[in-house]
Amino acid sequence: MSEQPTIGDTLEGAVDRYPDRDAIVYPRKDQRWTYADFDERVNRLANALLEAGIEKGDRVATVLYNGSEMALTVYACSKIGAVFTPLNFRLPAGEIEYIVNDAEAEMILFESATQEAVEGARPNLESVAEYVFIDDDREAVPNYANGFYGLLESGSADRPAGSVMEDDVYAFIYTSGTTGRPKGVVHEHRDMVEHNLLNIVELNLTRDDVGLSVMPLYHCAELHCSLFSRIHRGAANVIHHEFDPNAALEAIEDHGVTVLFAAPTAWNALSRSAAESDVDVSSLRIGLYGAAPMPEQVLENCMEHLCEDYVQAYGMTEIGPAGVFQSPDDQLPKQGCAGLPALNHRLRVVEPDADPDQAVDEGEIGEILIAGPCTMREYWNRPEATTRSLRDADGTTWYYTGDLGYRDDDGYLFVVDRKDDMIVSGGENIYPTEIEDVLFAHDAVAEAAVVGEPDEEWGELVVAYVVADDDITAADLDSFTLESDQLADFKRPRKYYFVDDLPKNPSGKIQKFKLREGETDIELEAETVP
Ligand code: ATP
Ligand code: MG
Repeated sequence: MSEQPTIGDTLEGAVDRYPDRDAIVYPRKDQRWTYADFDERVNRLANALLEAGIEKGDRVATVLYNGSEMALTVYACSKIGAVFTPLNFRLPAGEIEYIVNDAEAEMILFESATQEAVEGARPNLESVAEYVFIDDDREAVPNYANGFYGLLESGSADRPAGSVMEDDVYAFIYTSGTTGRPKGVVHEHRDMVEHNLLNIVELNLTRDDVGLSVMPLYHCAELHCSLFSRIHRGAANVIHHEFDPNAALEAIEDHGVTVLFAAPTAWNALSRSAAESDVDVSSLRIGLYGAAPMPEQVLENCMEHLCEDYVQAYGMTEIGPAGVFQSPDDQLPKQGCAGLPALNHRLRVVEPDADPDQAVDEGEIGEILIAGPCTMREYWNRPEATTRSLRDADGTTWYYTGDLGYRDDDGYLFVVDRKDDMIVSGGENIYPTEIEDVLFAHDAVAEAAVVGEPDEEWGELVVAYVVADDDITAADLDSFTLESDQLADFKRPRKYYFVDDLPKNPSGKIQKFKLREGETDIELEAETVP
């Protein structure tokens, strides 16, 4: 056994303390497992994976919606040192092919909802020896040697043999692919154990907490901030197959849910449903949000209709993901900020790409650097990207987030935009988010993305891509930006492209690099501002 705990050890610790308390509740399949039940099944699956030829270091990929199977698989992999590699369940065949080949996965677990995409990728997946189908009806599907539940029943309940150490790789977690191809983030067991502790502290988790997982478990935000920290603590976990706001509200009442993570768009949907429903959500004591900025109105609606206290997390796959937290007391007084560094984390704002000691002045915008114990080991197969992102200075490894931001007088971090999205026009730095916020305020604007277009005279020209609900023209939007009185002249878009859709990654984030590189299927015709 390793000197420091691994992810498998965090589960075993909870079993030791609370064998009879609920660990996993999965209403879709009527499953309710205590810590002892859950651990026994994890052991069975771990032993079955060993029997199937999975060895320490092998990658086990999942293309799964949320479910108890996802929880079993991640802990089973952890106990045998297999590298958990979760994929977004919305990926089309081509993207599955890219990630599975990049990770050289040995095994893929999938289910009926993702079967078509996995089948589509299958002819081009060379490394995969085993396909495991999650058989809802518990019968193996004829095309696949292994049905998940058959596999589970075949394994011994003993603790699996072999040793896993704290610095062994726990997972490859692929980034969302907002700024380019997804990158495989290599995390070790110890990174995640530290990250669990942060979340336990920031959310004041106790064994009496009941968490609800509605956000996707393939993403590190739900997997690490929610499931992992709750299992480590010995709290209960209710799992929903996917997000449905009304079902989530009912689950809060039915299971006495006390803690919930959701992205701002999902909090918006929850608060709207709660405003119209008489479901009792009084058990909810704290909400966690992150992944994107939370609009003030949404936060206030949540406070009115769901619970009073919220914690924000800011970060990214590479650091765990949470490295900065905004605590409940800071929500309204420090609206719009991301918070303060998490315990044992350090934060710096430097000239973009500059050395870690070249900090900008307080209040100035620069690139956000984060150092802490949960930072990735490296990007898989991308030594150059690793060298660019992780830089040592005086014994500290700094992660270059690629995000721009500043710290206010009290040291609170404000995230401004992504570095790659910044526009330099006529020597001025322009942050597209600020312009998009103004455009969003127009009733006819459903979506907007502002990018820089190469221009001989200005270096870059500010242009906006707009999805409009009604007929509007460039001239309309130009007067709107002028009348808003919020944008300096040089920030106002010079051209508008009216489009039906914007390119997005499967999590819904707009891929501006595709707009910049003209890599879209959209027929473009610009309306230049008169
Ligand atoms: P890729 O790295 O492949 O381009 P990605 O950066 O979108 O994709 P993630 O790691 O899922 O992949 O997302 C991290 C990013 O999300 C951060 O760099 C930041 O831009 C944004 N983000 C995360 N939390 C917050 C937050 N609380 N407020 C504002 N933005 C956030
Ligand atoms: Mg990123």
